Amino acid sequence: MLRSLEIQATLSTPSTPDHLPHLSWSPTIELSLDCFVCVRVGRTTRLERGAEQAICSSDRDHGPHFAPARIAEFDTAGTSLRAVVEFWWAPFHDAKRDTPATPLSEAPWVRLHLAYQCPLHAAPGTASTQTNLVRPTALRCEHCAAVIATSHEAPAIRLLG
Ligand SMILES: [Zn+2]
Ligand SMILES: [Zn+2]
Repeated sequence: MLRSLEIQATLSTPSTPDHLPHLSWSPTIELSLDCFVCVRVGRTTRLERGAEQAICSSDRDHGPHFAPARIAEFDTAGTSLRAVVEFWWAPFHDAKRDTPATPLSEAPWVRLHLAYQCPLHAAPGTASTQTNLVRPTALRCEHCAAVIATSHEAPAIRLLG
């Protein structure tokens, strides 16, 4: 059946916000989903905004495959993001572990990506934040090491329906 998850994240802005004017959320979400196609729970699934399918990383035996999931909503405002992911979910039992599948992965995990422009080096850069980090975590510019933003809370993931 069709299910949907909401992802919300907010980063704190630094005291010297010189990278902020060019900071934006990238339209890529990596999310753990229980995948009935390869019959594995907690698979990293890569979604691109606008794409009608996602890519499940699966495992060593199966390799990546298309997955029935998409980004239905992607709203950003400065350092805040809210996204809704729709995916097809069907019950199964994991092929390798004694675990039943759930619509919201047993250990929900997401990685969100950002892009920016370094004003000092006039060069583009990328950063990311994800669920399993020791917080607070500073996202630093890969060119000048300035703090771009700080993550105080893990992104929130909840099942909508
Ligand atoms: Zn899969
Ligand atoms: Zn920089």
